Amino acid sequence: MTTFPWQQELNKCVKCGACMAVCPIYRQTGREEMVARGKLNLIERINPEESGYKKSNAQDALPPGWIEAVDNCLLCCSCEENCSKGVKITDIIADARHWQTEKQGLNPIKKSAFSLLKNQVFSLPRFLKAGSFLQWLLWRRLPRHSGLVRRLPLPGFDDKTVIPALPKQHLDDYLKRQQSTMNLKPVLYFPGCATRYLYPQMGLDLIYVLAQLGFQTVMPQELNCCGMVTWGAGDQNSNQELQQRNLEVFRKHSEIKEIVTGCASCGHALKEYDELPEDCKILDISEFLFLHRDKLEELVGAKKLDKKITYHDPCHLRKGQEITSQPRWLLKLIAGENFVEMRHPERCCGAGGTFGLSHKELSREILAEKARDTDDSGAEIIASGCPGCLLQLTEGAVVAESKWQAEHPISLLADLLRKDVR
Ligand code: SF4
Ligand code: SF4
Repeated sequence: MTTFPWQQELNKCVKCGACMAVCPIYRQTGREEMVARGKLNLIERINPEESGYKKSNAQDALPPGWIEAVDNCLLCCSCEENCSKGVKITDIIADARHWQTEKQGLNPIKKSAFSLLKNQVFSLPRFLKAGSFLQWLLWRRLPRHSGLVRRLPLPGFDDKTVIPALPKQHLDDYLKRQQSTMNLKPVLYFPGCATRYLYPQMGLDLIYVLAQLGFQTVMPQELNCCGMVTWGAGDQNSNQELQQRNLEVFRKHSEIKEIVTGCASCGHALKEYDELPEDCKILDISEFLFLHRDKLEELVGAKKLDKKITYHDPCHLRKGQEITSQPRWLLKLIAGENFVEMRHPERCCGAGGTFGLSHKELSREILAEKARDTDDSGAEIIASGCPGCLLQLTEGAVVAESKWQAEHPISLLADLLRKDVR
């Protein structure tokens, strides 16, 4: 029997309800069991050592609504940011999912997806490359936005669901052809799966900007998924395996002290790793650029993006890593007075890893608020430092029939540095 290690953490909750003000799921459903306080109450009612919880009678042993409450969470950390008692709510929920999957097994679709993430022979990149040749049979390009929508009815996807176009070349393929520049200072680059296999241009933009600043990005091929998606699904064994593989790569390159990523979720996951090599720092790209702001400000000079731009805080950047000022500094540098704050930039967009696919309706309701706030800002571009948010925001524009584009700040910066004026 697995012990459930969170009793002490659960005891910290004083049932004050402050988490209700910020939970996107609660805002849509108005149900107590959907907010952190309600979820923790339900989770607390299971004591694995006493409940006689066994594989054969798993459903019977759980209080009504337990699975639904534990499942309906974006792990957005909004509740944690607002909790004066510092309850580690997302860790408890992820651990509750782990406890449940240990007993009932992982959802078969997630199980196959995570096997691909870990398998080094029939691996995720090979699978995605095969998909890149076949995708046009079922999907078509969006006219105004990046991404694809379905051509024919497909289970689980409506005609507004946006998926990324699968590229034929991954970031690794481009880097194989790049010359190493020996006189630049090395920085270890952790691109994350989305940038590496779905949006390689985003990775090339980051590498280009770092080169302009005098840094050589080192991206070891042996890097794995950061593990965030497996952690969120309750598959702690896969999460541990992926972490250990990445730590091995970090140790192998321990002479490089800075590990940079352009993915908010990867950065959040990496900063939680135990046993990072000594003196090794994980930095979101906005943090890294802010550290080198004198040089960057000089490079940008008077160039400015001639488009109105707003910003969406990725939850894993703002609430997971407390990074709010650096991306704003960067966007002001890129756009000057064309940068405007939207209403509620801190609110989750409803992506939540695979939540947008598994809870489409709820995710869309949360996204509709974000699309309305973006519309009202009058921006032509919404920037966000998380590939998952960017995909979700693109879907938000498609559903709302809005024209604004979702872009990573690093791509806006790279374009500005490449051209005179965008
Ligand atoms: S804000 Fe924190 S302490 Fe208050 S009810 Fe929510 S989880 Fe409990
Ligand atoms: S992590 Fe987000 S969705 Fe989950 S309970 Fe907290 S605020 Fe709600």
